[in-house]
Amino acid sequence: MPKRVTKAHIRRERDPKKIERVLKRKGYPGGELPRGRVLHHIIPVSEGGKTTPKNTRVITNKKHKQIHANRKKRGLV
Ligand SMILES: [Zn+2]
Repeated sequence: MPKRVTKAHIRRERDPKKIERVLKRKGYPGGELPRGRVLHHIIPVSEGGKTTPKNTRVITNKKHKQIHANRKKRGLV
């Protein structure tokens, strides 16, 4: 059962500065995503997931679309 998520949580976890910090910790020195890649949250922010190195993966845009299409089929975010 997804826990209740506040707008403040979503705002905090999607903060570009927070994302930049996490990217730096994940080994992207400029804090920027390489071209064609996105930062995917394993537990979605909308389900209480956080923007941390552990809860995120840098993956290709293509792979990201696949993941979310599959999740959608299974009735997930
Ligand atoms: Zn994603």
